[in-house]
This record gives sequence, C-alpha cells and structure tokens, in this order.
Amino acid sequence: MTTKRGMVYIVGAGPGDPELLTLKAVRRLREADAVVHDRLVTPEVLAYASPRAERYYVGKARGEHPVPQEEINELLVRLARAGLRVVRLKGGDPHVFGRGGEEAETLVQAGIPFEVVPGVTAACGVAACAGIPLTHRDYAHACVFVTACLKDGSASLDWEMLARPRQTVVVYMGLAALEQVCAQLIAHGLAPGTPAALVERATTPHQQVIEGTLVTLAARVRRAAPEPPTLLVVGEVVRLRSKLCASEQASQPARQAKACAALSAD
Ligand code: SAH
Repeated sequence: MTTKRGMVYIVGAGPGDPELLTLKAVRRLREADAVVHDRLVTPEVLAYASPRAERYYVGKARGEHPVPQEEINELLVRLARAGLRVVRLKGGDPHVFGRGGEEAETLVQAGIPFEVVPGVTAACGVAACAGIPLTHRDYAHACVFVTACLKDGSASLDWEMLARPRQTVVVYMGLAALEQVCAQLIAHGLAPGTPAALVERATTPHQQVIEGTLVTLAARVRRAAPEPPTLLVVGEVVRLRSKLCASEQASQPARQAKACAALSAD
C-alpha cells in the first residue's frame, strides 16, 4: 500500500551495528515502500527494511563510479512523486558529512514533504566501542569533526584551529591524507607525541584499532592496511583507551578483545 502523497525520510543508519539504529529509523524502514541506500549501510541494518520495499543502491565501491548526487536527488523526487514512502538511508548521521542537507534542499524545491531521522555518527560509535571518550574534563574541552577528503591532494584545512591544545580532532575520510594530516598538526604546534588512533569499521565485528602518535601512526597504518571505513581520532583522550577498553572487555569479550588488540609493533 502506498500513501497518497509520497514522502521522503532521510534516515541515519548509524555506524554499522544494527542495534545502534534508533526506534524511529526501524519504524521508517519497516514502513518503507522504497529504500535508497549507500555503501556504508551494512546488510544487518538493511535487513530491517520491509521485505516488499524496492531497494536502490547508490553508493560506490572502490574502483566504481559513484552515482552522481543529482541522479540521487532525481531518484528521490521521482519515487516520492509516484506516491511512495521513501527511506533515504545513510551511514551515521545524515547531516554529518552525509549530504543530507543537499537532498533536503532538493526536496524543498520539489515541494516534497520529508523528515530527517538522526543517527549515531561514526565519531560517537568510535567513542563508545573503541574506548575513546571524545571529551574528558582532564584532557579535552572541545571536539572538532573535520573531513580530510582532499581534492588534488591539497590539504586546505584550518590547521591552526585544528592544532589547538585540549581539543580532540576527529577526521572523517582521513585515511588517504593520514600522513599529511599528522605532519600538518605537528607543523602547527601539536606535540609529535600526541596520541592518535585510526579505527577501522567501528561498531562492527570487524572493528580494529591502530594506535600510535602523530609520528608513528602513519607507518603502523600502512602495515596494517585497514579496510574502509576508517576514522582518525587525534588528542590526549586516546590515552584513555587502554583503561576504558580493559573494563569493557569484561562485558563484550569477543568484540572488545579484537578492538583492544591495538597493533603496536613498530
Ligand atoms: N554520515 C556519516 C559520515 C559519512 S562520511 C556519519 O555520520 O558517520 C564517510 C566517513 O565516515 C568514512 O570515510 C569514515 O571516515 C566515517 N565512518 C563511517 N562509518 C564508520 C565506521 N563504522 N567506522 C569508522 N569510520 C566510519
């Protein structure tokens, strides 16, 4: 059954673990006539969609061409105009480096009603599952989310702002630029020994944490060759991991044992 008038739900799927979906996200998925999803959405999350919902994959795998954003926008408009309840399912939170805003703008322009359902952004997933609190009064009073998806290899970030003391920096899409990011943070005043961690596939059974400092991390990551998606966390709060992970191990032995197996051979 379709609603008379189509509607688009821009839904955050969280960082991977299906139990991190919100109740509202699950409800929208169960009621969906169509689901338009990205590469970051795990099969376990997709399993919550109504079995009769049409599925459209608009992500990109490595080596494939992404579906251009305009085509995704057009697809959402077309499906909604056909009277369907459309779930636009995005990894993490739709409005954190998720282009949710661009899609919402298109829907406003087309006069299509929509609702945004927030999700657990990758940084919060990492904080919980890798034992790295993003802020802690003893170490950081600010936290910055930044993307290092750099065009033409050029790093045009505000390095002075990012290198401030007592601040945690979370870098989305930072793997390719990891070396540059670490070098620039040192060049702009952070101590070379500042702890840093790269977390691979956070909150999933494949989660791995590679820990080091601004000087050592890049080489460790090269050796470990992590699979995407990965998130980089820089700041003194990373030091808390050994303590916080140890206590989590008691409750979640399998996953945490893997997560805590930080690759430390240098
Ligand atoms: N809207 C998403 C971010 C999309 S940008 C959110 O709120 O999380 C894509 C980037 O998010 C990836 O390149 C990676 O840096 C990060 N990311 C998403 N899921 C992740 C996960 N499970 N583990 C590590 N990083 C993740």
